[in-house]
Amino acid sequence: MRPSHLLAVGALVLPLSALAADPHSYAQPDQVRVTHLDLDLKVDFPHKQLDGQATLKLDWKDAKAKSLVLDTRELKIASIEGIDAAGKATALKYALAPNDKELGSKLTIATPQHPSQVRIVYTTVPTASGLQWLTPEQTADKKLPFMFSQSESIHARSWVPLQDSPAIRFTYNAHVTAPKDVRVVMSALNDANHPLDGDFSFSQPHPIPSYLLAIAAGDIAAKETGPRSAVYAEPSIVGKAAKEFEDTDKLIKTAESLYGPYAWGRYDLLVLPPSFPFGGMENPNMTFATPTLLVGDKSLVSVISHELAHSWSGNLVTSAAWRDIWLNEGFTTYVQGRITEAVYGKTLADEEALISARGLEKNIKDIPENAQRLAPKPGIGADDSISEVPYDKGSWFLRTLEQRFGRETFDAYLKGYFAHFAFQSITTEQMLDYLKANLFDKNPGKMSWDEVKQWVYDPGIPKNAPLPDSPRFNAIDKERASFLAGSLAADKLDAKSWNTQEWMYFLDGLPDVTPLDKIKQIDAAWHLTGTPNAEIGMRWYSHAIAAGDKDVWPAAAEHMTRIGRLYLTMPLYRAFVKTPDGLAYAQQVYDKAKSGYHPLTQQAVETLIEKAKKNGSK
Ligand SMILES: [Zn+2]
Repeated sequence: MRPSHLLAVGALVLPLSALAADPHSYAQPDQVRVTHLDLDLKVDFPHKQLDGQATLKLDWKDAKAKSLVLDTRELKIASIEGIDAAGKATALKYALAPNDKELGSKLTIATPQHPSQVRIVYTTVPTASGLQWLTPEQTADKKLPFMFSQSESIHARSWVPLQDSPAIRFTYNAHVTAPKDVRVVMSALNDANHPLDGDFSFSQPHPIPSYLLAIAAGDIAAKETGPRSAVYAEPSIVGKAAKEFEDTDKLIKTAESLYGPYAWGRYDLLVLPPSFPFGGMENPNMTFATPTLLVGDKSLVSVISHELAHSWSGNLVTSAAWRDIWLNEGFTTYVQGRITEAVYGKTLADEEALISARGLEKNIKDIPENAQRLAPKPGIGADDSISEVPYDKGSWFLRTLEQRFGRETFDAYLKGYFAHFAFQSITTEQMLDYLKANLFDKNPGKMSWDEVKQWVYDPGIPKNAPLPDSPRFNAIDKERASFLAGSLAADKLDAKSWNTQEWMYFLDGLPDVTPLDKIKQIDAAWHLTGTPNAEIGMRWYSHAIAAGDKDVWPAAAEHMTRIGRLYLTMPLYRAFVKTPDGLAYAQQVYDKAKSGYHPLTQQAVETLIEKAKKNGSK
């Protein structure tokens, strides 16, 4: 617990320092807090912009405060007015600071009268970092344009002026107009039967942090998958998606049986076009998901378990700053494993836990020391804080707690933790105080507090971190070793029965640069080039490119052009840029693929290619 300066926020008490401490927001929540947002927007496809106004309800905390400071990025602001308690509007003076590359433009609004609301009339720009605009040709059905948002981590400010910090929660209503036949959905309650009349209204009655603000619009059909769940997707995809995600209701019930009632009402899923840069995004009531999950055998449904788990860890209990993001992602990856185990069995859950742990062991040496900490020291970027450390090290820490304290005790603890901090944004230190009082002090002798501090504050992975046992993975380790040693032919690998995770594990365990003849033998026997399974494809092409197998280049390029999901596409770029030929080819692929990529993916690829060119010319 941080000492002194306790500030009451409704029923919640947070140390003042926790509220003022988000280095990725200009907001000054110790002076004034946004409690509610009313959006009125028009989706303007021809100009690739959102056009309208945001009205923010304010709760003044400091009687001496003279201004309201908001986060914005590239917003074109037309006017700002304050509205007093009687509803009278007055124009307000404001200043928009020059754009900071990471944080955007600080918007300072002069508010000496402490208005109860502020209304901002504005327009977004086509390059807004939190929005992607697709032409009809860039969609599956090629009929209508499509747009969607990705606000996490600090991109909500590129489409709504607000206090863009996870420490600040607000409810919202929205009225959105769009061309006829377009469906608009948001991170709020959605109605699958809403007519496509171009006029949509939404309500999110629960207070959410800004990074969970979300919108999408396009040729979107809906299909029920249960009494409180539906899948939304382009019409040609919605049937396939509903089949792949038909277990959604079962997943919700399982999560509820572990961690208490689902707090949000409906749980719907939106399958986006392939340029979506992530696997899934846990927007409340409406998870956004990549179509790369649609493999036909439900083998990648864990991503849905993950996004659903966020309904507890993240959306209900949120990290107060990006530095604490492991409170969202580590807890969620742990809960995801528990849902997978209950619905699809322990074998699969253990395999996924092992893939996550082995991947972290392999990659952690390449992560800067500070970012290897669950709770890094100051100086880490908001998007950079979302590495595999919060996910894989965070969930590993929770699996360690479960093992030491026993599942029954730990489950009861975690359920209580979610209930205690529901609809709050907390710091690592608040979580640790609660952990000490409610798990460690009540069950002494199971684990030392020094071990906890090592997990949370030290770089690297603690020695003796427990790993699940997987007999199937052990068998694959043996086969891989025999194959590499030349004592087992590729076609004699027992791979016919391997599931997606087992192929992933086999490929993850190949040497960074596998001999070219071995790569050729695997492909001749198992035809991995051209695989429709992007998890397998990402691993396979990375190895084949590293081995110097130019025959896979066209198929790799097809994978990179088709898929804009960072995790599945960046490893191929990374493999290509290691040689001059590969670098030139990567540039060619990117030039063609660029228009279909999300701004975040474009930025990541361009940074990588520029860096490789610089290093190469030295
Ligand atoms: Zn997540």
